This record gives sequence, structure tokens and C-alpha cells, in this order.
Amino acid sequence: MPNKNLLKPRTLIFVWLVLLAWLGLLALIVIILLNLFFSYTGLADKYFMYLIYFTVGLGVTAILVGESVKCKSCRNSLFKEKRGGINKNAYKIRGLNYWASSVVGTVFNRRVTCISCGMKYKLKDLE
Ligand SMILES: [Zn+2]
Repeated sequence: MPNKNLLKPRTLIFVWLVLLAWLGLLALIVIILLNLFFSYTGLADKYFMYLIYFTVGLGVTAILVGESVKCKSCRNSLFKEKRGGINKNAYKIRGLNYWASSVVGTVFNRRVTCISCGMKYKLKDLE
């Protein structure tokens, strides 16, 4: 295929980076709460800074990879919310913003909807 744009691996990498970053964030919150309320001083403290670096690193990488996940139809990033440029067909979960909804939707529905133009992609049809 001459115009292989690696949309599928990029989408999967992006989604996994975001999920891991969320997990890292959750771990940070849990550790902070444990420290606040139970003056917990366990092994986790030693790795707290690493966990912060790790989570921030994942987040930054996710943003960079996310930029390269381009919609075939409108050429905008599939996971990027542009002010005023959100399509009415964009996938939205109540309580989440559009890009987070797209990430969750990709995992559970195995399909991605472009936030900018509403184009739907099935994960299995992507290459
Ligand atoms: Zn699009």
C-alpha cells in the first residue's frame, strides 16, 4: 500500500499512553490521599518522584503521538478538540470531554470518531 499512514498503530499507541498516564495519575492521587489521611509512609514514597516523572513523560508523549493521529478525511488530529470545531457526531460520554470520550470509546467500541469532522473509523479496518 503506497499511502499507508499507520493510523491504527498510532491510534493504539496513543490510547495506551493515555490509559497508562491516567493510571499513573490515579496512583499519584491514591498515594497523596494515603499520605494525607493515614500519614502513610511506605515503599511508595521512595518511588513517588519517579512516578511523577513517569506520568508526566507518558502525558507529554501521548500529546506528541496524538498530534500525529490524523483523520484521513479532514487531516485534523482525531483526538484533538478544536475550539468551535467540534462535530455534532463526535463521540461524547457524559462527564468527560471529547478527547477523553474518544479514548474510552476506542477501547470499548473498537472504533474512533473524528472530533472535527465526525468521520467514523472501525479499528479493525484501519491500517
Ligand atoms: Zn476528521
